[in-house]
Amino acid sequence: MAFLDNVLQPPAYGWLDEAGNFVKPSPKQIFHEFFSRLNVFKSKKNWLPFFSWLKILCLTPFFFLFLFKFLSIGMFAVAFLYSMVIMGTHGTIWHHRYCTHGAYRFKNSFWRFFTQNLTISVIPEEIYVISHHVHHAKSDQPGDPYNAEGGFLYCFLADVVHQPIAKDLSEADYNRVRLLMKHTGITGNTYKQYLTWGSYANPLRSTVSWILNWSFWYLVFFSLGGHALACTIFGSAGFWGVGVRTFNYEGHGKGKMYSVKG
Ligand SMILES: [Zn+2]
Repeated sequence: MAFLDNVLQPPAYGWLDEAGNFVKPSPKQIFHEFFSRLNVFKSKKNWLPFFSWLKILCLTPFFFLFLFKFLSIGMFAVAFLYSMVIMGTHGTIWHHRYCTHGAYRFKNSFWRFFTQNLTISVIPEEIYVISHHVHHAKSDQPGDPYNAEGGFLYCFLADVVHQPIAKDLSEADYNRVRLLMKHTGITGNTYKQYLTWGSYANPLRSTVSWILNWSFWYLVFFSLGGHALACTIFGSAGFWGVGVRTFNYEGHGKGKMYSVKG
């Protein structure tokens, strides 16, 4: 249990008070934590949550192009299908069932890579996986990274303020993080690299795989239906990326992130 108590970086307001009760921060405290943890100039160990929101920022123009330039009934149907069905299903089978719970195996690393990249990449695996183990261990107790008692913002901004791994793990604890991530096929940082970057994911590898994933899918959608289809699908992935953050809160009692129970 000690490992799961310490593996996530505690927010400045803490998980619990001295009496062991849940700390409910004010919106101001949450926003302060959010911007301080996105600040890569303050510490490069903040790179992963920054990277995650940078992707959302980059998807925003596609969403507006879809909305104001390419919107039609057909494109709306595509956007609906991609954001409400395809992205969510991928989150379930990849991030949740496979990466977190190891619920099935792949025949070989090709099929694993194929499944990982079945959609436009939005959520970094590490942010989802490690915190989801903590969530299962502490569901709705202090320390649950998306404790619904904390309110909407507590959950909506959780991927920055509560879900990243701690920056001061011992080598033994970092090795346990590596064990939880190994089967995902993502080549992680060495302990020495972790001490520099504060994450399992490596920034260079993550950036290269981001560029390749998005380029591949833009080309595929563009060749099928021009910029209209490509912008519609990329925009709907951005819409999902924001929407999924609200499920952390909405999902209370209905099933957690990605509206999945388990
Ligand atoms: Zn689960």
